[in-house]
Amino acid sequence: MKKRDFIKTSGILTLGAFTMPIVGCNDAAPKKEETKKEEQNTFTPFELPALDYEFGALEPNIDARTMEIHHDKHHAGYTKKFNAALEKSPLTGKELTAILQNIEDKDDHTNLRNNGGGYYNHKLFWEVMSPNAGGTPTGELATAIDGAFGSFDNFATQFKDAAKSQFGSGWAWLIKGKDGKLAVTNTPNQDNPLMTNIAEVTGTPILGIDVWEHAYYLYYQNKRGEYINNFFNVINWETVGKKLMAAK
Ligand code: MN
Repeated sequence: MKKRDFIKTSGILTLGAFTMPIVGCNDAAPKKEETKKEEQNTFTPFELPALDYEFGALEPNIDARTMEIHHDKHHAGYTKKFNAALEKSPLTGKELTAILQNIEDKDDHTNLRNNGGGYYNHKLFWEVMSPNAGGTPTGELATAIDGAFGSFDNFATQFKDAAKSQFGSGWAWLIKGKDGKLAVTNTPNQDNPLMTNIAEVTGTPILGIDVWEHAYYLYYQNKRGEYINNFFNVINWETVGKKLMAAK
C-alpha cells in the first residue's frame, strides 16, 4: 500500500505539516514523466492557410468583411481547436485526409470531427474561389462533368439544389467517388465526404460551398439562393480541374 493510500484509508491522520510533503513527492514523480513524453512528441500543428487574394477581391459576390471574419475568426478558430483535439488523439501525425477518413461517430471524436472538418473544408473553399473567375470548366473536368451529369447546366442545377436544400448549417460538394465518377452531395455541420465512417456519400471533394449563415448573412441575409448563384461567379475551375487530376 502506498503511503498516500494508507493515509486515506487509515483516517487517522489529517492533511497537515506531516502529510503535505508526502503528497507532494507522490505527485511530483509522474509530472516529470509527462514532461518527457511531451518533449518526445513530434506533433506539428496545422496552420491557418493564407488567402491567395485580398478579402475584398471576390466582391460583389462575397463581401470583404465576411471574408475577413470568415477567414481570420472562423477558420482560425477551427484550426486552433483542431490542433488542440489532435494533440491528444492517436491520429496525431497522420495526413489530413487520413485523419478525416478515420474519424468515427463517437463522443471522443466530436472535437476532431467538427474542427478537423472545419479546417479542411475552409481550406478547400478558399482554394476553389478566385477573382476574375467563374464561367465554365474546360478540358478533362468539362468532359467528366458532361459524362456524369449530361451537361454543365445539369450539374449546376444539382449542385445549387444540394446547397439550397442542406437544412441548417453545412456544405454542398462536387466529389470524385470511389467509382471514379463525379457526384454531387451535401453534408451537415463541418462533416465532409472524406469522412467514410460518417458521410452518406463518400469521395474526394474537388469543389465545395459553405452554406453556414456566417458565410453569407452579413451581405445576403436570408437570401441563401442568391449567394449560391453568385458563388458560380468566383469558382476557379482551373483549380477544381487540378483537384480532379490529383484525386485518387
Ligand atoms: Mn464557414
